[in-house]
Amino acid sequence: MSYVFPPSPTVSLPVAGTAERFPVHRIYCVGRNYAEHAQEMGYTGREAPFFFLKPTDAIIAVENGEGVTMPYPPLTKNLHHEVELVVAIGVGGANIQAADAQKHIFGYAVGLDMTRRDLQTDMKKQGRPWCIGKSFDQSAPTGPIIPVGEVGDIVKAGIRLSVNGEERQTSTISQLIWNIGEVIEHLSAAWTLQAGDLIFSGTPSGVSAVVSGDTMVGSVDGVGSITVRVG
Ligand code: MN
Repeated sequence: MSYVFPPSPTVSLPVAGTAERFPVHRIYCVGRNYAEHAQEMGYTGREAPFFFLKPTDAIIAVENGEGVTMPYPPLTKNLHHEVELVVAIGVGGANIQAADAQKHIFGYAVGLDMTRRDLQTDMKKQGRPWCIGKSFDQSAPTGPIIPVGEVGDIVKAGIRLSVNGEERQTSTISQLIWNIGEVIEHLSAAWTLQAGDLIFSGTPSGVSAVVSGDTMVGSVDGVGSITVRVG
C-alpha cells in the first residue's frame, strides 16, 4: 500500500526514565473542574463534568529537563495559561467505574491548556463551539509522562504555575470538583477510552494572560515541572 502523501508522524511524549515514548491518541479536556476557577469564570455549583477535545498535534512535547517555546498564536489578544494535571491512559475501555479507574492509568504529566480567551468568550456568548478558543495549533505544551508507580499520592500533590517567577496559580489535586476516577467514569461513558488518550483534568483559579517574551513554569508535585516560553 502507498499513500498519496506521507502520513502525519505519530505524536508522542517522552516517558521519564526510559528511552520509550508514549504515543498520543486523543486529547480530552475537562472544563471548570476546580470550584474557584469555575467562580472566576462566572459559574457556581457542582455541575456534571463536561469535556472538549484538542487535536493530538496541538501537543508541544517538553523533553526531559528542557524548555520549549510556544509561538504566540494568531487572532487573539488575550492568551491565557491553564496549568493542569494530565492523566495518560494505558489501558482503554468503556463504562469504566471510578473505583476501577486506577488500572487504566499509565502515568501523569504536567500540561498547559493554552486558551485564546477572547475567542472562547465570544463563542460562548454566541452559543457556538469553543474550538477556535481552545483547539488551536500548539495549544498543549506537555511534559514527560511519569509512570504511575513512580508518582506518590497524586491527590495530595500541589499544582502551580508561575509567570516570570511570579506565582499565578496554586492549588492541590485534592481540590478537583470531580476526581480523576470520577472523570474517567464520566468520560468513558461517552467515549471508549483507548491506550494513548490524554486527559487534561482541569485548571485551578488564577488563569491570566501572557504575552510574547513571558516564561511560564508549570508544576505538579511528584510529576515535575515544565518551562514554556511564549514566542
Ligand atoms: Mn482547561
